[in-house]
Amino acid sequence: MPEPAIHKAAAPVIVIGAGHAGVAVAAGLRTRGYGGRILLVDAQTELPYERPPLSKELLKPGAPEQPVPLRKQKYYEDRGLERIAGLTVTGIDRADRSVLLSDGTRREYHRLVIATGARARPLTVPGADLGNVLALRTYDAAARLKRALVPGARVAIIGAGYIGMEVAAAAATAGCDTTVLEFQDRVMSRVTSAPVSHFFERLHEAHGVRFVFGAAVTAVEGSGRAERVVTSDGTAYPADVVVAGIGVLPNQDLAEAAGLDCRDGILVDEHCRTSDPLIYAAGDATRFTGGFDGASQRLECIQSALAQAELVAGDIAGGPARAAEVPWFWTVQHGVRLQTAGVRHPGDEVVLRGDPADGKFSVAYLRHGRLAAVDTVAGLADFRPAKKLIADKALINPAAAADPAVPLTDAVLAPAALAAAIR
Ligand code: NAP
Repeated sequence: MPEPAIHKAAAPVIVIGAGHAGVAVAAGLRTRGYGGRILLVDAQTELPYERPPLSKELLKPGAPEQPVPLRKQKYYEDRGLERIAGLTVTGIDRADRSVLLSDGTRREYHRLVIATGARARPLTVPGADLGNVLALRTYDAAARLKRALVPGARVAIIGAGYIGMEVAAAAATAGCDTTVLEFQDRVMSRVTSAPVSHFFERLHEAHGVRFVFGAAVTAVEGSGRAERVVTSDGTAYPADVVVAGIGVLPNQDLAEAAGLDCRDGILVDEHCRTSDPLIYAAGDATRFTGGFDGASQRLECIQSALAQAELVAGDIAGGPARAAEVPWFWTVQHGVRLQTAGVRHPGDEVVLRGDPADGKFSVAYLRHGRLAAVDTVAGLADFRPAKKLIADKALINPAAAADPAVPLTDAVLAPAALAAAIR
């Protein structure tokens, strides 16, 4: 397809933030033939890069000493995507349809897209500001952490979410003495059920990782640098490096200051429009209503960021709208892949498919009898059918779904059984 002619005169679409969502909006506009100017304001100077490798491949010995760019420089040049690198937007003037940049200049916009992402939730205990207490959001932090992961180093990880677990795997693999301190009574409790948590706990323990559950960290102590992490029962865990992976907060400050509706995320509708029709938001910064299940939710995943970017590009440039996709997530720990389709809720009925002791199984989550989410561990056979069944809101026979020899698609209640079930 020939690239569209780029018209320089009119005010540009300005995209604030060059993470997965921001870059995908800019790319999606051009793919759809948008010929106006597009400005990508990026606080970082290096080319926008992939985030998933920061807690995975980039921590491995022999990993490349630079981030993996989302797109090469030439990609931006060829498409006339103008990057303003190393500057931030400090304010949005909605009446003037302009943004103020950190160098004091002002840029008018035709449409504005806020793709500011999320920031690491700060650890607020005394000593959290010591130099070797790290959060993992940037390549620089990942590079620092990698340098600290040497055999015998004592690594204390606060939080057993995706970050904590992936870092624990990298640290144990590097021969570090690894301890994970978690509030809850099991790992990855926000995203998965007990059988999956327990499987990953055992997997990590087999690689020498120690878990402390119900751990409330009260201080990080040391002279000049962190030397130990202290919990509320007075136990001190020695540490040469501390990693805090305790969740994220949406970067909604700019939107809030501009008077846009926010509630734990910038509120956007099914087209990713904010409460100002000229301003969109996409990615981790948003709280989205609509999607495949119509719920109001904040999703922290690349697939959702890319889907939202498509919606924004489509709404600005026109073209066919893509159906909302069931969100999905993945993590790899000690070489074992956990892949999730849909969003599990704590009250869902948990149907185990297979025996975790075999090292390979799935879990189906039923909400009011319908398939809402599926976790697959070390095997993807259930993943694709699950996405379709979740999108179809399929009613599932739990007894059939509990038999791993029965394909998930055959566990769908047939119309006659369905009518009986509804009666
Ligand atoms: P997370 O998945 O929200 O997990 C944080 C965990 O830390 C929760 O279990 C939380 O418990 C616990 N916690 C919170 N405060 C604590 C404290 N003071 N002491 C001990 N434990 C505490 O967040 P994350 O692991 O930091 O990940 C950050 C972001 O990166 C997320 O958006 C995540 O999706 C993304 N990420 C994704 C991947 C992936 O998809 N593979 C990989 C890396 C990062 P509560 O629930 O009680 O707060």
